Formats: sequence, structure tokens, C-alpha cells
Amino acid sequence: MSTLCGIGYDSHRLVAGRPLLLGGVQIPHERGASGHSDADVLAHAVIDALLGAAGLGDIGEHFPDTDERFSGADSMGLLGEVVAMLEARGLALVNVDCTVLLEQPKLGANRSAIRSSLAEALGLEPQRVNVKASTGEGIGFVGRGEGVAALAIASVQPAG
Ligand code: MG
Repeated sequence: MSTLCGIGYDSHRLVAGRPLLLGGVQIPHERGASGHSDADVLAHAVIDALLGAAGLGDIGEHFPDTDERFSGADSMGLLGEVVAMLEARGLALVNVDCTVLLEQPKLGANRSAIRSSLAEALGLEPQRVNVKASTGEGIGFVGRGEGVAALAIASVQPAG
């Protein structure tokens, strides 16, 4: 049985007065990600990984940030829509692995909550959803605390 893989990447600027959402979990921090939707950078990277595995383009095609319908959109809800799109095409998720690139705060205390939240949205056991965190070591936009980024990879198989 063939396995299909997709990658995803996203980044958002960190600004005051916004919540910092990662995989549907609000992280206590004095700044959050700016964006048209709720700016959940991890959900966006996972969405692109799923769309990539299914050969369905990217998040901007399905949920354009020029569309008022997606202003303040719940990104985990959008992720649920993408999971349903894959199911409708006869594709079953195998696993998702991801890395959050964030200088502050450290995510250790939140990682299992993020993993559970993503696993629930994806319909996978938490063991099939891995969440890693890395900093920018003081360099680049992540290291300077200007933004947050996320990488994701997903694999899917024909259901059955
Ligand atoms: Mg985004």
C-alpha cells in the first residue's frame, strides 16, 4: 500500500495584544501571533502538510486571507475541514510530526496539551502525533523574538 507524504511550513509575526495559539492551545505569553485568522501557526503548518500529502494545493487556496469569512477564523476548525476533505477522498492519516520554532516561552509544559489537541482534531492516537519545539538560538526572526514558525510533515494512506 502506498504512503503519501506532505510538508507544511508557516510563520507569523509576534505582536502585543494577541493570543498565542499553537495547535488550538492558548500559550500564556505577553505577545501573540498576528494574522487574518486566529493565526495558529502550528495548525496552519499541519493543514498544509495534510493538503500536500493529498495533492490538494495549499491553505491559501482553500481558506484565502482576503476572504472575510476567514477573518478571525478558528484554525482548528479549518483543520477539521481538511481532515474531512481527506476522508472524502478515501485517504486515512497515518501520522503527523511537527516542530514549533519559538524563542520564548519554552513549550515543555504545554507540549502534551498541544499533542492531545492536534490528535483529537486529526482523529489520531496521540502516539501518532509528535510535537517538538526548538528555539532560534538568538538569531533570525525566531531568535530575535519577532515571530513564531512551525514545520509539519504528514503521511496518509488509502483507507481500507
Ligand atoms: Mg498562517
